[in-house]
Amino acid sequence: MIFEGLADKLQNTLQKLKGKGKLTENDVAEAMREVKLALLEADVNFKVVKDFVKIVKERATGSEVFESLTPGQQVIKIVNEELTELMGTTQSKITFSSKPPTVIMLVGLQGAGKTTTSGKLAGYLKKQGKRPLLVAGDIYRPAAIKQLEVVGSQVDVPVFTLGDQISPVDIAKAGVEHGIKHGNDVVLIDTAGRLHIDDTLMDELKDIKTTVKPQEILLVVDSMTGQDAVNVAEHFDTKLGVDGIILTKLDGDTRGGAALSVRAVTRKPIKFVGLGEKLNDLEPFHPDRMASRILG
Ligand code: GDP
Repeated sequence: MIFEGLADKLQNTLQKLKGKGKLTENDVAEAMREVKLALLEADVNFKVVKDFVKIVKERATGSEVFESLTPGQQVIKIVNEELTELMGTTQSKITFSSKPPTVIMLVGLQGAGKTTTSGKLAGYLKKQGKRPLLVAGDIYRPAAIKQLEVVGSQVDVPVFTLGDQISPVDIAKAGVEHGIKHGNDVVLIDTAGRLHIDDTLMDELKDIKTTVKPQEILLVVDSMTGQDAVNVAEHFDTKLGVDGIILTKLDGDTRGGAALSVRAVTRKPIKFVGLGEKLNDLEPFHPDRMASRILG
């Protein structure tokens, strides 16, 4: 489970403060050293850790804590608030277009879980009463189109495909037109990924973006890749611009470094998390609930 080691260590450290009654600056400094180490071990971005510890330390050595009757408890509250803030404070939802269809592009590297997540998101939106359409734009990965058709049928959402001999830009355009004609209010475009970021991939995604003008570009990244996921997110955001992040495979990530860093580094919200291979293993991301998982 995510944050396994981190939760243990932070709870231990903060528990010690709680047991002390009155706190000295030294107690806080010592605790902050431990917090810093625990975050670094969880693979949180170095600069994010530095800024986080600085803010918590400043607040924890102020009157808010020292004049409190339960100083240890106050420090825990501060850590909780700052962890929540780190992950985006409040839930960030999909913005739907006032003039349907809402076009959503899913982008990311191969293997991040983009195709599975497209299906999960389509199913999620359908349950919310939307009429989604999936568009198969990944023409390079063998079997990606077939895979999308399979997940589409599992969540009972139609899949638009033109095969793999037509350019993804034309497929995306035709897909949106198909959606308009058939009364779909959300069109989800599964785009191609590569094993590594390259200019051809970015150019193609930029072409699709210019052509279909998506309401949202959602970047799918694999939580288990830690800081690599954060670097990928920074890169996609700089080159293409992303509106939100979907963090997959949280079920297999014990550390949680990506979850704690990606929003702080990119300033783009995590909108959903993937928690398993099944198509209903997708949940909206709640920063406050995530923080509570760490602090118990
Ligand atoms: P794509 O290349 O980005 O389209 O990736 P796929 O959608 O094919 O996913 C790659 C692998 O990751 C598949 O085996 C998926 O079942 C798996 N996967 C996707 N999301 C999750 C998740 O949230 N948790 C787990 N455990 N596996 C996932």
